[in-house]
Amino acid sequence: MSDLLQVPPSEASTPTNDRPQPEPQLNGSPEGQTFDSSQPWEAWSIDQSRETYGIRRWSNDYFDINDAGEVVVNAPTSNGPQSVSLMEIVEGLKQRDLETPVMLRLENVVADRIAQLNHAFASAIAECAYRSDYQSVYPIKVNQQCHVVDSIAESGKEFRHGLEAGSKAELLIAMAASTSLEALIVCNGYKDEEFIDLGFQALRLGYRCFFVVESLEEIDLIIRRTHHWNQRPFIGVRLKLATKVEGQWAEDSGDRSLFGLTTVDLIKAVDTLRAANMLDCLQMVHFHLGSQIPNIRNIRDGVKEACRYYIDLIKDGAPLGYLDLGGGLAVDYDGTVSTEPHSRNYDLNEYCVDIVESIMNSLDPHGIAHPRLVSESGRWTVAPMSVLLFNILTVTHFEPSPIERPLPEDPCEPIDNLLYTLNHLQLRRLQENYNDAIYYRDQMRDLFRTGAINLRQRAFGENVCLTILNRIAKMVPQLRRIPAGLSRLRDSLSDIYYGNFSVFQSLPDAWAIGQVFPVMPIHRLNERPDRQAILADLTCDCDGKLDRFTDRNGDISSTLELHKLIPDQTYYLGAFMVGAYQETLGDLHNLFGDTHVASVRITDNGSIEFKDELQGDTIADVLSYVEYQPDKLLQRFRAKAEEGVCNKAITVSQRQEMLKLFKDSLQGYTYFER
Ligand SMILES: *Cc1c(COP(=O)(O)O)cnc(C)c1O
Repeated sequence: MSDLLQVPPSEASTPTNDRPQPEPQLNGSPEGQTFDSSQPWEAWSIDQSRETYGIRRWSNDYFDINDAGEVVVNAPTSNGPQSVSLMEIVEGLKQRDLETPVMLRLENVVADRIAQLNHAFASAIAECAYRSDYQSVYPIKVNQQCHVVDSIAESGKEFRHGLEAGSKAELLIAMAASTSLEALIVCNGYKDEEFIDLGFQALRLGYRCFFVVESLEEIDLIIRRTHHWNQRPFIGVRLKLATKVEGQWAEDSGDRSLFGLTTVDLIKAVDTLRAANMLDCLQMVHFHLGSQIPNIRNIRDGVKEACRYYIDLIKDGAPLGYLDLGGGLAVDYDGTVSTEPHSRNYDLNEYCVDIVESIMNSLDPHGIAHPRLVSESGRWTVAPMSVLLFNILTVTHFEPSPIERPLPEDPCEPIDNLLYTLNHLQLRRLQENYNDAIYYRDQMRDLFRTGAINLRQRAFGENVCLTILNRIAKMVPQLRRIPAGLSRLRDSLSDIYYGNFSVFQSLPDAWAIGQVFPVMPIHRLNERPDRQAILADLTCDCDGKLDRFTDRNGDISSTLELHKLIPDQTYYLGAFMVGAYQETLGDLHNLFGDTHVASVRITDNGSIEFKDELQGDTIADVLSYVEYQPDKLLQRFRAKAEEGVCNKAITVSQRQEMLKLFKDSLQGYTYFER
């Protein structure tokens, strides 16, 4: 607590004026004890909750709040959207022995995304009279979990939706997936002979499997294996575009992009294929500018540059026919429609129309036939599908206790001064009052260090100081202009809500790249959220927290508005839009393992079908990931307990009890259990 309230010494000025002796007047202070702005008598509406959490800005209509103040999923079904409360899903999961934290996957949402993507390209193509078609591909790396890929393959069938593989493991997934045979399999990444040979098997089965070439060595390998398998492959070339993109990965775009052929190598690749009599296999130009591209302008620029390659490769004799735009279609995590890294300044329709128009404007003057368009939108497709549901375990408040009477008999000078400050707070001298409080508090701490005051005295003084800071924080909003020194006071006094989850396991991008995900309570939204809080997770790591949220104005705020805990009632929150990249990038920090996972489909009549329930890692599971053998561990502990019996430290029945607990724990959930 003390660290949170620490201010650099330079901020605390030395008060100079002589003051009279303090006259404590502690009773009947109108501000109360806390800076808590709750006005319980004021009504609170669901619309105010919508505003507070911006749910209508970021949810793409998939989520909203019902009259009971609970978050609902508006699941798209063939019978129109069906609204189901997340609390009802939490209840259903509990009955199936899945306690939070649970990663909830909503199958309707991902199916709807694939349909939307295909329809949007189809209407852009119709609108612009583009003379070819579109085919979507899902990049497996974005969420490789079996049930996710299965559900994408299944719901993508009617669109010939394909899969993109960046490794041999992902190619195996693609080959065995239940996609349509007309679907594309796009092989990216560095490929060894086995990778290429696997691709040839997919070709033999009738899949349109493309080898997208990343390096010249791959060309030689493909040519060799073509002779071996006596099968004509589909080849694509991965461009290294000079176009730079804004956003999270700006540094890795353009010339410094890790992937793709330089122009020099591209020419060599074409010449090598021609010499091998295989230039007819070169059918695709591929580029991927990066993920989460916030500015549509970068996307247009990339397409235009890629078209220049397309034109010149055709003129050079490559037949081509496919233009693969890669990923990059961004998700608006904060709903601000801006070029900030967590947003985007375009929508799906604009994305499709801009791409189609840019291609036509580039190719038409050269009389070049329109290619079939391919895109590999991963993040956009799967992000809204998953919600991390978790409960709050406890809260730390930074609130003072009532100041005790009588006052300590021998308060030291700094404590006298703190009391004086407390009784003389003035709106127009708030910054000065604040500086004084910090100054006297630090003086008091010095006295404690030298032994001049004791622990009880210090605790009294700290509490007075906290009372002052809370009162000041409460008065700050009344100021016309808030001094910089006071603007963050409220944050430093905010609560810490401890959530039953691990940032590192379930929201790794929040830690790694400062990603902002929408986080909000999933019930009690007809009540005023009257606490300001940051969220801490279960790991013992100071990075294990969420303290970047989008506020009602779309700005980044370090605190989130939450409700007071009600005794004996579980408080549930959801972290939304977490379907892309989070599950696989998650790690075992502090040995918190995979959470339970539940895939849910909402039926046409609005009932919940719990399709798959996967138990999260047990403690034995995570121990085995870090080289322990749970059996051996148990054996070792058994021997230790036996020693205890020999030493008469424990009885035999205590040993049995101990072993049972140890064994049960090995099979238990790594998260907090009730
Ligand atoms: C990662 C990746 C994608 C997915 O990008 P999103 O921005 O998530 O849509 C697509 N294509 C390739 C080649 C990738 O490496």
